[in-house]
Amino acid sequence: MDYLLTDKGRDNLESLLKGRSLYAFDFDGTLAKIVPDPSAARLGRSVRFWLEALAKRAPTAVISGRSLEDLRPRIGTTVPDLIGNHGSEGPHVVQEAMQQVRETCHGWLRLLTDRFQAELAQSGVLVETKSYSFSFHYRTVDRRDEARALISRIVASLSPSPRIVLGKSVVNVMPPSMWHKGTALLECMRRLGCTTALYVGDDETDEDVFGLGDHHILTVRIGKKNASSARFFLKRQTEITQVLRLLVEGCG
Ligand SMILES: [Mg+2]
Repeated sequence: MDYLLTDKGRDNLESLLKGRSLYAFDFDGTLAKIVPDPSAARLGRSVRFWLEALAKRAPTAVISGRSLEDLRPRIGTTVPDLIGNHGSEGPHVVQEAMQQVRETCHGWLRLLTDRFQAELAQSGVLVETKSYSFSFHYRTVDRRDEARALISRIVASLSPSPRIVLGKSVVNVMPPSMWHKGTALLECMRRLGCTTALYVGDDETDEDVFGLGDHHILTVRIGKKNASSARFFLKRQTEITQVLRLLVEGCG
């Protein structure tokens, strides 16, 4: 894993600018700072400025675990290509498949309410429900082992077996689907006629992109982690502004 803000990293960014590339970013922890209350996450002023400038010049996308409904007002209208729910929500997904996913989620939520509501309330685990997936948050929980054990027990009782993606103090649960962030990114590239891409993310769900091992995609992780499949890293989330700025100034 190499640091992106070096000559080598800049060379890689520059070569993206030569072709038709898609610039795609995760939201939480990548474009937006991680905050204790997920509903308070938003773009900082300079990130918004440079992201909007980039989106005016080149195909730009945000690929998030959030639902599109939740994501859209946080991004605004300047980035038209938004993909939600870890890849299972967006223009690439056919309506019937989305309906199926929605129904599975509904069934799971009923089970959650019928069987686990009291235990969840007692544990302090926050359930974030989205139309196409849900997330158990335990960032603010004191007894984390107990919280994790409860979440495991709930997940084991779900049918059909969900796809689980672990994040930072969050367990994301989604119906089995052919779409994840990696497949969604590839489809977005195809749709927009891009042969190369940049993808920046910070979390386990982003490994679905990093792990594609596609040399047409320049993969960048926020935070160095040896177990990650990303090629480059940034030391901290705030450095995303510099990356956006480099791309805009190179595109300009
Ligand atoms: Mg993230």
